[in-house]
Amino acid sequence: MILPITLKDSFGRTIRDLRISVTDRCNFRCFYCMPTEAMEWKPKAEILNYEEILRLSELFVSLGVNKLRVTGGEPMLRRDLESLIERLASIEGLADLAMTTNAHFLKTRARALKAAGLQRITVSLDSLEPERFALLTGRNELSTVLAGIDAAIEADLHPVKINCVSMRGINDDQFLKFAAFARERGAHVRFIEFMPLDNGKVWKREMVVTGEEVRAQIHAVYPLERVPSDNPSETARRWRFVDGAAGEIGFINPVSQPFCGACSRIRLTADGQLRTCLFSHVEHDIKQLLRRDAPIEELLDFILMTVEKKEERHHINDLEFVQPLRTMSCIGG
Ligand code: SF4
Repeated sequence: MILPITLKDSFGRTIRDLRISVTDRCNFRCFYCMPTEAMEWKPKAEILNYEEILRLSELFVSLGVNKLRVTGGEPMLRRDLESLIERLASIEGLADLAMTTNAHFLKTRARALKAAGLQRITVSLDSLEPERFALLTGRNELSTVLAGIDAAIEADLHPVKINCVSMRGINDDQFLKFAAFARERGAHVRFIEFMPLDNGKVWKREMVVTGEEVRAQIHAVYPLERVPSDNPSETARRWRFVDGAAGEIGFINPVSQPFCGACSRIRLTADGQLRTCLFSHVEHDIKQLLRRDAPIEELLDFILMTVEKKEERHHINDLEFVQPLRTMSCIGG
């Protein structure tokens, strides 16, 4: 079978980036993501094992995917995650291996993850004030998270990126604090516009703080200049400090400035479904093929056909928008 060099969808976009959710479980209870303690987790038998994740990752890399991102829930809740990282890192043709985490376990595991082959880390963090942090996450753990971020910086999982979901009336009084944090630690703080993917069904359009609003607020205190980018599918608009301070500020604006036109992403859920868009209403069950030991040709065909069906864009700004059933905690961003 002749393998196509790249994975292209019906809009001519090339898929280069596979996001792998390795668990739907999390130890935090962020109000917009996992609003209740009594979460119903997927049965273990439904969750892909490391062999299956590895096999699919190798297939995608053979089809031109060169970026893998490990996500959750909270990925470090999966036992022996470092062994999966090590095996993913050894896939030939892989250029970039990153992970998104709430950083709760990073203080003790950053070095081992780096040694296993992890290249970069993104930390989800919506507040730099302990009380507000506890309110938003249901956990009084800000100091642990900050220690984890410092451990990642020391372990050279750099640049450490911080994803802050900007929400009006929730954390819009802390943007300057995040900018100062970026300067102090040389971290790349990205502000993400709040998206309607929340389990708590709290999303309202008026809660969205646009990237431009945040940029103006920061620029007034810490002047910013645009960082040129040659990567059209990069989701963040990057800015640096005019005064040369370390760190960067990025804006991910899926609501006010959608970037679907150059989308290069596809997602694998912890229970073995392919999602061609964060806002997909359709999922593609590749686990059933794996579990009946389907031949490689059938798996490749399935991936090609799935990518063919990739949605053109999200419809957040359209009247007919319907929030997908699967929420962020089970997609992994
Ligand atoms: S909303 Fe869907 S199509 Fe748009 S950038 Fe995100 S994943 Fe890609």
